[in-house]
Amino acid sequence: MQRFSAFALVKHALSGHQRWQPQWRDATPKPAYDAVIVGGGGHGLGAAYYLAKEHGLRNIAVLEKGWIGGGNTGRNTTIIRSNYLFDESAALYDHALKLWEGLSQDINYNVMFSQRGVLMLAHNVHDEQSFKRHIHANRLNGVDNEWLTPAQAKEFCPPLNISGNMRHPVLGAALQRRAGTARHDAVAWGYARAADALGVDIIQNCEVTAIHRDAFGHVTGVATSRGEIATRKIGVSAAGNSSVVMGMAGLRMPLESFPLQALVSEPIKPIFPCVVMSNTIHAYMSQSDKGELVIGAGTDAYTSYTQRGALHISAHTLEAICELFPDFRRMRMLRNWGGIVDVTPDRSPIIAKTPVPGLYVNCGWGTGGFKATPGAAHLFAWTIARDEPHTINAPFNLERFARGMLIDEAAAAAVAH
Ligand SMILES: Cc1cc2nc3c(=O)[nH]c(=O)nc-3n(C[C@H](O)[C@H](O)[C@H](O)COP(=O)(O)OP(=O)(O)OC[C@H]3O[C@@H](n4cnc5c(N)ncnc54)[C@H](O)[C@@H]3O)c2cc1C
Repeated sequence: MQRFSAFALVKHALSGHQRWQPQWRDATPKPAYDAVIVGGGGHGLGAAYYLAKEHGLRNIAVLEKGWIGGGNTGRNTTIIRSNYLFDESAALYDHALKLWEGLSQDINYNVMFSQRGVLMLAHNVHDEQSFKRHIHANRLNGVDNEWLTPAQAKEFCPPLNISGNMRHPVLGAALQRRAGTARHDAVAWGYARAADALGVDIIQNCEVTAIHRDAFGHVTGVATSRGEIATRKIGVSAAGNSSVVMGMAGLRMPLESFPLQALVSEPIKPIFPCVVMSNTIHAYMSQSDKGELVIGAGTDAYTSYTQRGALHISAHTLEAICELFPDFRRMRMLRNWGGIVDVTPDRSPIIAKTPVPGLYVNCGWGTGGFKATPGAAHLFAWTIARDEPHTINAPFNLERFARGMLIDEAAAAAVAH
């Protein structure tokens, strides 16, 4: 693999940057693989990378029905944090955060991980008590999180309105300093390049249309829009389409798929130093390296597979943004888009074996799985390779919905990004 470095940049500059190789091969499907990953988002590509790197499986394909990163990986607002309430979640998301901290070096690709801090605003006494509870729980789990007064929050994020004449005044904020953002496309491209270098076939425009099983129920392969592929291990990482793909193996998943939308403003000079989230009035914002304000809205109220959200949802979010940051009132929005998020009843993910031998699933990340990308991929690869979960993802199984062992981050946070 050609390595990216300052030396390589200088060397290629001498030839006018004409000699860079494509970053991954345009692979054609082989008749059989040791393992097949369905879904070329960050989670699927990352799982293939860790399968090859840490578990010695090299004969792997990632099958993507569109283009890699064209799903939620390339559509999200890139908030990364690990300050979740429950022990199981803190372990999972902090595992991911630790991998983020070394990811650019590991895959030799700049994913522009920026630990600029995530500020979660409290607007009422319940928020304040809930966030303080999170802070205590996080500290017990070795996860950084601290309480800021309104004045300290404003010092950390100068555009924030902390005057008392708001509908929902700011009473304080929880700050995770290690949290931040990363460049979403780079995550998909970086994992694709690193996995390809280890021999993984990345096959785009290849939709999985059926999952085949033998007389004992074990998976034997998939039908795709580019032909039949035999395999004894299938890992499904298909986000909003997970229930459709799992249905091909006869499994009904505890998932609902909703559109979630985001929007960006016209670009401006650097003014917004961190990420701010307000769960109560439901708005969150950061500034991209290009200068756009990146704004996340809520999910539509109805299940759907359209990759766009309803106008009144984004209008509501912009009202909240204007209230929190009056300086931005006259800015224009450049574009908005949607992605399909797969939501579980407890708003926690599933990374698990399934009742179908040889079939594994990583789904249910809903509105908040970008932050988990390296951790989820790492644990999913472990589960596929060893046919058993890692201790970190063991609680995130399918049986919890039957046994009532929920990890109820929905009730804990009211929002999951
Ligand atoms: C607007 C928006 C904002 C968000 N903001 C945040 C945020 O700030 N922070 C955060 O942590 N998370 C956020 N999320 C959630 C996050 O984007 C997802 O949880 C995460 O990216 C999921 O990654 P993935 O690789 O599993 O899915 P995806 O990137 O969606 O990859 C799944 C892939 O599977 C492919 N596929 C589906 N069916 C098939 C098939 N039959 N055959 C082959 N391929 C198939 C799809 O084409 C897709 O490319 C947001 C999501 C949206 C939509």
